[in-house]
Amino acid sequence: MKVMKFGGASVKNAAAIRHLLDILIHENHENYCLIISAMDKTTNALEELLDEKLSEEKALDAFKEIKDFHYQQAIDLLDGDEGLIEATSYARLFRELKAELLSARLKLAAHPNHSVTFDEQYDRIVSYGEILSTKLVHTFLVSRGQNIEWLYAPKYVITDVNHRNAGVDWENTNKRIADLDQNKNYLSQGFIGSSISGSLTTLGREGSDYSAAIFSYGFNASSMTVWKDVSGIYNADPKLYRGAEVYTGISYEDATEMTYYGAKVIHPKTLRPLYEKQIRLCVKSFLNPALLGTIIDNRRTSNNTPTFIIKENQCLVSLQTKNLDLINEGSISYIYRMLFQLRIRVNVLQISALSFSFSFDYDERRLKEIIANFEVDYFVRYNDHLQMLTVRNYQSDQLSNFYDNYEVLLEQRSRNVVQFVTKNKLNLNDVF
Ligand code: ASP
Ligand code: MG
Repeated sequence: MKVMKFGGASVKNAAAIRHLLDILIHENHENYCLIISAMDKTTNALEELLDEKLSEEKALDAFKEIKDFHYQQAIDLLDGDEGLIEATSYARLFRELKAELLSARLKLAAHPNHSVTFDEQYDRIVSYGEILSTKLVHTFLVSRGQNIEWLYAPKYVITDVNHRNAGVDWENTNKRIADLDQNKNYLSQGFIGSSISGSLTTLGREGSDYSAAIFSYGFNASSMTVWKDVSGIYNADPKLYRGAEVYTGISYEDATEMTYYGAKVIHPKTLRPLYEKQIRLCVKSFLNPALLGTIIDNRRTSNNTPTFIIKENQCLVSLQTKNLDLINEGSISYIYRMLFQLRIRVNVLQISALSFSFSFDYDERRLKEIIANFEVDYFVRYNDHLQMLTVRNYQSDQLSNFYDNYEVLLEQRSRNVVQFVTKNKLNLNDVF
């Protein structure tokens, strides 16, 4: 069994989905399982429907845009064939989504600024993106003679109830996937799952790679391929850095570190399950399938080329003790427990005698909760709209150039890795 993941860009419209079929035919695997994301920027568009600043009327307009877009692509892809368009179940799905949306907005209005309620409603709405895309791709592939079964991922990917960033219940998930017939072809949704009691969950933004790894693990797949709109894994985002180079192969460890620091090539959780079963991961260009791409497996040793990773939209929070209370093990563990409860992922951390500073991906609701929870004991200050740069395998002589150009608010350095949180927009080409 080969698992192949196609992200939003590779199913962004009817033409892209036709191209997906070409790749499938060209790859010619005996058995395969396709894991597919929402089309193009659909996930963002669905997120916006929940914005409470949007009036109901505006939200319904935005809903209609999503609906029209999907129908347009369906009509194009299925050559206007009414029977096939009906087979996508779009009429029912959009009816359901509209009803869900109105109900979610009522619940959010009743519990404003309550992040748990928000996260739960978010998962119910945003999961439609993947249902819609897979229904369309499946209908199309079947109409073109592919023998392929559509799976409802929430029946197989079982998670805890940590909405928007759910953790996998491996035992139940593996049991269910292992029960599937390995001699068939499948197509399922990335990103989504459900709790054992049936509450819909999502695995975190860009989580479809992780879904593909979950299915690969359950199937004991012979390999997993992620099809992307770039040629593989680079040492820096090629859109941001002229000197970016593609790796032909990297180790599971290097790939894990890169994604941990925010490289967007693959979702950070993807590698662990593959590593455990030693399943090879290939990252390949959807636009140019003849290129070899990047291979991640156990035959690679760590390499020491510098890697540059930029994370945007950072919020740097500083908790300063009152009355000269020192930061100690007790206060650190208290702060960390609280951040864990608020589901905040700390991207970089620095501790001094009287302060605890950390940066996280800006989220207005979570920032308000941080302030509310800590302001009794600490002076809470923050800066938003910041950027974080991580350089692995940095060369010290390049750093002075960096200091000349940027105002650094926080710096963390070890022998191999340096991280900066800065105010001004980073331009790697100026410095490295
Ligand atoms: N559609 C989801 C997202 O955009 C999951 C994914 O693309 O991997 O975040
Ligand atoms: Mg996506």
